[in-house]
Amino acid sequence: MSKKVIGIDLGGTTAKFAILSSEGEIQTKWSTLTDNSEEGSLIVPSIIDSILHHLELYQMSPEDFQGIGMGSPGVIDREKGTVTGAYNLNWKTVQPVKQMIEAGTGIPFFLDNDANVAALGEQWLGAGHKEPNVVFITLGTGVGGGIVAEGQLLHGAAGAAGEIGHITVDPEGYLCTCGKRGCRETIASATGIVRVARDMSEAFAGDSALKFQIDDGQGIDAKDVFDAAKENDPSALLVVDKVTYYLGLACGNIGNMLNPSAIILGGGVSKAGDFLLEKVIAHYQRFIFTAVRNSTSIRLAQLGNDAGVIGAASLVLQKALEKPENIR
Ligand code: ZN
Repeated sequence: MSKKVIGIDLGGTTAKFAILSSEGEIQTKWSTLTDNSEEGSLIVPSIIDSILHHLELYQMSPEDFQGIGMGSPGVIDREKGTVTGAYNLNWKTVQPVKQMIEAGTGIPFFLDNDANVAALGEQWLGAGHKEPNVVFITLGTGVGGGIVAEGQLLHGAAGAAGEIGHITVDPEGYLCTCGKRGCRETIASATGIVRVARDMSEAFAGDSALKFQIDDGQGIDAKDVFDAAKENDPSALLVVDKVTYYLGLACGNIGNMLNPSAIILGGGVSKAGDFLLEKVIAHYQRFIFTAVRNSTSIRLAQLGNDAGVIGAASLVLQKALEKPENIR
């Protein structure tokens, strides 16, 4: 029997866990709430406890596992296995995550950035269909991404490769949390879409249910904007057109630069489905040249919330291939 893998998707609200076969099939999964009090010092011990508890529950031992892979927010040092600056976890200083988890569980541990890990998951068993060149974009509260090129994750000189959310799409645009203006994240994230909707509805003079909702002081979210657009609300359609224009523009630049076989759209905003996809593709077509048009498609993600744990598992399998001494 081949050894199993544990995948962990660590987030600011929950940590998702799964035990997977070496083919990436999820055999069991569970989640825990993330307690980021006391400067996040309880997070890693609670991950260790949760793993040990489940091993006992399923009568498994550390020797049954090839490794643990984890996607984490923040800046990752993959060699040292540390995380810094993960503000939603309250981790401001360097956290020796690998050292703690290996000591606590006796299982080899591998770490990467959460968006990169989700990209690996979609590339492996989701919309990427194991194709070697795939770009993944997550459209959530923020915009993250990961690039798989020639079968490998791209990390860049400082681990910042694939930060697709900070591609400038409007030099005079909104101020981003990163300190510069007009990042794609300021427009095409869930929060960005609401901001665009508020600004455009102020200038909109016609009859619109979305505008009424906003003027009435009702809270709206990105889903409300897409739902209204699907009902042909004229103001919502303008918002969606603007958002998908900038998404299409950024995807065009990605396609022209990397020529992946697929640019995969995931995250909460992608739940708008084919309605979103078709509009992004229509704009995207204007920004690419023929060779890219014929070979780079835009697709919707397929794994949903499982992308993180599946990608984390694939991190273990990839590392095991790179360094045979890691195979147990
Ligand atoms: Zn930015």
